[in-house]
Amino acid sequence: MRKAALGAATLLTLGLASLATAADPKYDLLLKGGHVIDAKNGISAVRDVAIAGGKVAAVAAKIDPAEAFKVVDVSGLYVTPGLIDLHVHVFAGTGEKNSYAGDNSLYPDGYTLRVGVTTVADAGCAGWRNFEEFKTRVIDRSKTRVLAFLNIVGNGMRGGAYEQDLADMAAAPAGEMAKKYPGLIVGIKTAHYAGPEWTPVENAVQAGTIANIPVMVDFGADKPERPVADLVTKKLRPGDIYTHMYSGLRHELVDGHVNPGLVEGRKRGVIFDVGHGGGSFAWRVAVPSIKEGFVPDSISTDLHIGSMNAGMKDQLNVMSKFLALGLSLDDVIKQSTWNPAREIKQEGLGHLSVGAGADVAVLRLENGNFGFVDSFGGRLRAKQKLVCEMTLRDGKVVYDLNGLARPDWTTLPPDYKSTSDPRWAGGPGR
Ligand SMILES: [Zn+2]
Repeated sequence: MRKAALGAATLLTLGLASLATAADPKYDLLLKGGHVIDAKNGISAVRDVAIAGGKVAAVAAKIDPAEAFKVVDVSGLYVTPGLIDLHVHVFAGTGEKNSYAGDNSLYPDGYTLRVGVTTVADAGCAGWRNFEEFKTRVIDRSKTRVLAFLNIVGNGMRGGAYEQDLADMAAAPAGEMAKKYPGLIVGIKTAHYAGPEWTPVENAVQAGTIANIPVMVDFGADKPERPVADLVTKKLRPGDIYTHMYSGLRHELVDGHVNPGLVEGRKRGVIFDVGHGGGSFAWRVAVPSIKEGFVPDSISTDLHIGSMNAGMKDQLNVMSKFLALGLSLDDVIKQSTWNPAREIKQEGLGHLSVGAGADVAVLRLENGNFGFVDSFGGRLRAKQKLVCEMTLRDGKVVYDLNGLARPDWTTLPPDYKSTSDPRWAGGPGR
């Protein structure tokens, strides 16, 4: 250390000051003066965050800017772990019409990084028969970290007949495929089932048990033979996830109050997820539920072609809805970072501990007049809205709304070509 400092001093005397500071600073990037919200580490306070080698290197009240190659002033903004969206549909590119293993899905990067999301979990677009195609087409090619709930249906979410085929809901091959990709397949999904049988849920739980991963349930059609209370009090295991919790489509409310079965399920350890989507979030369900304390464990979008331009829009829009419902910013961040990470047993994600991968969101809480629309066209007016200023993936800036990391062009040489450096800038070398 002492030797390096001496070297820098020598260069300085040679009039190479800028080269000297660039030579071997301790940190690649320093986010200075932001309000850090990190639920795992119990931090909600102004902190500097230093990054080196793609990892969080230090979080402290004051870090010397001279120790960093690049300093970005984020004062007045919130610095959080990269957001985790636990329920999306991103198996795009197969060309299959009317299919979530096709045209109903979206390539993730255009819908994630620009709203601070660095990790998504695909909610069952692929089953064991087509998971490896999904991996090759999307997972391996995306800048967003894409994890997956494997559909209990071998053919995945290809629509109509496929998703009703009980014979294709085999636990063993699904469980085995999940075991082949630990940390990538993080759960089993059952969805859209219209029949009266419990078979999809039972087989999903069996597959989840084989691979020691949770099950996420979209409970499909509302059937008296399989009430939602029985699902969460008898069929699911602690740690399994009920998504679409505010849809109102399956008796989530009874006589205007939260279904006592759901409350009982939560006591047993069943997890409740938003999964907003195109048809699964109603103010008339969410408002009374939250008044009774039935808040989400995780906030997720259910991103797909039917929700992207409707009331859902994106992760920050859904999070802003929960601010409007009276949840604290700290809670809403926790429900979009550390909580979902734990739900899928990915405890390396969702926090800013020293040594963790530096996936980071820099957010602004805007004040103004905003409207938030539910899945049934009801609007709720509110005064605050979250906006993403900057997103880091593995320590690199991959989204920068207002150019916080960039110099004013008038300060650059007349023939400037690039202001980037691979130590902090992601994407093309601009
Ligand atoms: Zn979904």
